[in-house]
Amino acid sequence: MSDPSGTGSEADDVRRFWEGLGLPGLIDVHTHFMPERVLHKVWAYFDALGPLTGGVEWPITYREEEGERAALLRAFGVRAFTAMLYPHKPGMARWLNDWAAGFARRTPDSLHTSTLFPEPGVEGYVREAVEDGARVFKAHVQVGGYDPAGETLDATWGLLAEAGVPVVIHCGSGPAPGDYTGPEPVARVLARHPRLRLVVAHLGMPEYEDFLDLAERYEEVRLDTTMAFTDFSERMAPFPRRSLPRLAALGDRILLGSDFPNIPYPYVHQLHALERLELGEKWLRGVCHDNAAALFGLRGR
Ligand SMILES: [Zn+2]
Repeated sequence: MSDPSGTGSEADDVRRFWEGLGLPGLIDVHTHFMPERVLHKVWAYFDALGPLTGGVEWPITYREEEGERAALLRAFGVRAFTAMLYPHKPGMARWLNDWAAGFARRTPDSLHTSTLFPEPGVEGYVREAVEDGARVFKAHVQVGGYDPAGETLDATWGLLAEAGVPVVIHCGSGPAPGDYTGPEPVARVLARHPRLRLVVAHLGMPEYEDFLDLAERYEEVRLDTTMAFTDFSERMAPFPRRSLPRLAALGDRILLGSDFPNIPYPYVHQLHALERLELGEKWLRGVCHDNAAALFGLRGR
């Protein structure tokens, strides 16, 4: 926030958006908070155009320290946000979950987030996290490089389905594919756990339509908008216009996500990218606030 006046006007732009819809603010289900050391590694990865960025220039817009980033979300009027964090190898998830529990305690407007990895003991630490009040989980099939339908996670998905705790899952093949990205492994998970509350990150980019199929088939499946419809993503993986009516029909199961702070454009651009779909104010109210408020049992408007 080296340019306070610039930040001020950006916050004004964001607030104007939700005030115009008559909302009490935004709920963003896909924001990243993680131990600073880990986050700085993620930023270094984007700076170096690591292979999972798809080799695309990815200048991170928001590099402030943790407290300032949370303050910025509040200035935008984001009433609730998550702390998406994820391991890339075994033996890391429990440590991340301990950190995330601390973050949730010192950040009361965040939704207590946890993560998981296919490894011995996963069911145990996921149960502990749920009992400790975790409201949402993050699973990253691309970075983790695992089959979500593998046997190691089966009981854990069952536990999360039973508990009704949503799992934001990066399972689409964008910006770059992984060994187990794409709709097929997730379809196998859902065939075994049809009540599992999966939130498909990035709207399943670039396999948008396959993941819309899954959402139409399984009523607990939702999708987050993270980076979808922005100029940045439309250049790489345009959303098929013919599927806009399906997006409209699934209006109560689309959730605002932004990927803040790891985005190569200002926050307000994600909002304008949703607005220009022209799916109407009711759709926008659901996506930007009401759907997540219902899912997480937050006070309505
Ligand atoms: Zn993300």
